[in-house]
Order: sequence, then structure tokens, then C-alpha cells
Amino acid sequence: MDQCLFLFDIDGTLIDAGGAGVGAIRLAVRDLYGDEIAVPELDVRGTTDAALARKLLPAMGAEVTAGSIAQLYEAYLIRLREEFQKVNRGAGILPGVRELLDALKAKGVVMGLLTGNLEAGAWIKLERFGLDQYFSFGAFGDEHPERDKLGPEALAEAERVHQRGFNPTATVVVGDTPRDISCGRVIGSPTVAVATGAYSLEELSKHNPTLALKSLQESGAILDLLSKLSGKKFSDSEGRN
Ligand SMILES: [Mg+2]
Repeated sequence: MDQCLFLFDIDGTLIDAGGAGVGAIRLAVRDLYGDEIAVPELDVRGTTDAALARKLLPAMGAEVTAGSIAQLYEAYLIRLREEFQKVNRGAGILPGVRELLDALKAKGVVMGLLTGNLEAGAWIKLERFGLDQYFSFGAFGDEHPERDKLGPEALAEAERVHQRGFNPTATVVVGDTPRDISCGRVIGSPTVAVATGAYSLEELSKHNPTLALKSLQESGAILDLLSKLSGKKFSDSEGRN
């Protein structure tokens, strides 16, 4: 029987940052390149911060170097901390998230992050809403412009932290964009797409995730998937702790 692993995206999946993330990027760019600079429109959905940096820097007339990237990350994290300390209208934990994380934790499911956020940024966002306690590791967007590279990294991190291997077919990737679905497919894992971010249920369904849900409040479907993957029955009363 396989030990199940769940890998969660953050923005649009666990939390709605109420625009604080994009706001912090724009402020960071202005901090570095001046108030007058026109910051281009950013499509941040399912992308990685490494990819964003590589788009932003040339648009600012800056060279993409290890130094300019590090400088941008530093300015962004300062602004992100500030933005997340404010009470942002519309920001919060998405429906059903805490209940699902509690249910998975109670079933002994190992949980990690698979996110395009910088590692430090991911923890700032999760700590703000008290969700950091559920996760002990992750694959983050510091290095990889391509999100698809993060799945293998998350599996390797899970193995390193938990001192045991995880079967990709008993690993579930949960996210709110077609890029999250693709990430799961690359490692041969089932995917749960949730329409609490920038994509509708209809749009997500076109990409054939294992499950497409309106929100993570539909935990019954996820627990059914878990019971199938682990060979245990969790969703009926018999299987409950
Ligand atoms: Mg997302």
C-alpha cells in the first residue's frame, strides 16, 4: 500500500492574496528602476517567479544576470512582507482549504508545496494565514522558469525530508491553472484542478485533470481519490478515525 503525497500550489489554490503578490512585484520594480518606469502587464497565473524575473528585467532595460535577479528577489520580498502585513480586502484562505488540510493530515498524508513562488515568498504568504504548519518541504520557483521542472524536484525533496521514496502514481498535484495540471502529468501523477483562482471549471476541465472541482470544499471527491490511490476507504464511516 502506497503512502500518499499531496503537492499543493499556493495562489488561487490555498489562498487568495488579494493582489498583494502582484502589488509587491510592481512596487519592487519601481524601488529598483524608478517611479516613472512603466511596469508591463504581468500574467502571473501558474508561472514561476524565476520566469517573471526573466520577463521583467529586460522590460526594465536591465540585463538578466544572477546579480540583477537576486536584487529583484530581495526588493520583492521586502515589499511582499509589507503588503502581507496590511489587511488586504479580499485576501484570505480559500473555501474548504483548512478543513481539507486537517482531514489529509489526520489520514497521515504527507503534504508538500509545488509552487512558482520564491521559497521565502511562499512561507511569507502561508505564515500570514497560519497555513505553514501543514507543510514541511516543497519545490519552489526560485530557479526554474519552467514550472514543469518543479514536479521531479518536489518528489526528490519529499524523499530527502521524509527519508523514503514516494510513488508518483500515489502523489496528487493540486492547483488552479492548466500549468499545475501539466506539472502533475509530467511526473505521472493524478491532478486536482480547483476553480478558485484565475480559471473557470470549464476551462480547467478542457485540460483533463483527474478531478476538476469548484472549490476545495468538495473534499469528498478528494478523499475518494485518496482512498483509491492508497487502497484504503476513507470516505465512509468505517474508514474514519
Ligand atoms: Mg496558482
